[in-house]
Amino acid sequence: MTDDTVLPLCARCLKTLKPGSGNFFQIEIHAVADPASPEITESPSLEAIRQEIQSQLSQLEQLSPQEAMDQIRRRVTMHLCNPCFQDWIEHPAGK
Ligand SMILES: [Zn+2]
Repeated sequence: MTDDTVLPLCARCLKTLKPGSGNFFQIEIHAVADPASPEITESPSLEAIRQEIQSQLSQLEQLSPQEAMDQIRRRVTMHLCNPCFQDWIEHPAGK
């Protein structure tokens, strides 16, 4: 390991973490927007479907490809030192 190697920091307490020391966790979060199909209560007309597609496309035109993807799927990797991990894993959604 050279001096210019960037070491991970604990996402909560900012403690520098040393790979190979066994004193931290790497956490992978994969969040997906509601994966169920939309609930359709009545048969939409072809014109209604066409209008909905046009509406969705015009909304997407205002977003970058990354922003569009962020609306449906996010992957986050973070590191937590062991004490911060023990606290976080008991209440990952907050207290
Ligand atoms: Zn920490």
